[in-house]
Amino acid sequence: MSEDIAKTSQRTPWVIGNWKMNGGLAANQSLLAAMLPALNAGGGRTRRARVGVCAPFPYLAQLQSALEDTGVAWGAQDVSDKTSGAFTGQVSAGMLAEFGVGLALIGHSERRQYNGESNVLVAAKAAAALAAGITPVICVGETLAEREAGQHQSTVAAQLAACAPVLRQAGSAVIVAYEPVWAIGTGKTASPAEAQAMHAFIRDQLRLAATACADCSVLYGGSVKASNARELFAQPDIDGGLIGGASLIAADFLAIVAAA
Ligand code: PEP
Repeated sequence: MSEDIAKTSQRTPWVIGNWKMNGGLAANQSLLAAMLPALNAGGGRTRRARVGVCAPFPYLAQLQSALEDTGVAWGAQDVSDKTSGAFTGQVSAGMLAEFGVGLALIGHSERRQYNGESNVLVAAKAAAALAAGITPVICVGETLAEREAGQHQSTVAAQLAACAPVLRQAGSAVIVAYEPVWAIGTGKTASPAEAQAMHAFIRDQLRLAATACADCSVLYGGSVKASNARELFAQPDIDGGLIGGASLIAADFLAIVAAA
């Protein structure tokens, strides 16, 4: 799966669902059953976009058996920066890779906020995922205070700069997700013009940090809904979306996938 993901990640549009800490065996089963006929019809992709789902660790087995032969990618929401040892509660990239995981969210703003993940730790986690053959989905984005202080570009530039070595090594086998923190789960979306401006900035930063990854996919995340997905995805530097809340409702997620 990950080789396949790496091959297709050169500015490939992606729609990736982030279930966060939601779900349960029965609820996941109904959600997957409601989505799979439509997703399968496209072999896990729309005419252009690839589709992925990131679930809590205990449900990865469920994704593995439901999505194995569908072309829909599946992944974790975090990974340890360590390879093995006395790190109770952590899950290594090697363990996830052995299990068939193809994608891992890295440095989601909720992990930066609630688990104190620094730019340095995020970069180490991305490197660990990449070394295990898992495509890291590196999340960056500014808080409302940073945007209001005019620091949105410098914040994101610093987040990307910390990842420069891994970006250089990854080439296009990495996905970046721009998620303004003020737009995540708040119902407030960046306007298409605001999002495009940041995506163009990120693409420039990627060129500066690592020419090799200048063509990786850069997704937008933050209250993407069926009603705003098309306009956001039509922006020239937006390669699809990382979808939180709306990925828990089959009809909404499918409409967003269709918009890509
Ligand atoms: C996310 O969790 O990455 C996200 C973008 O959430 P939401 O779509 O709910 O804002």
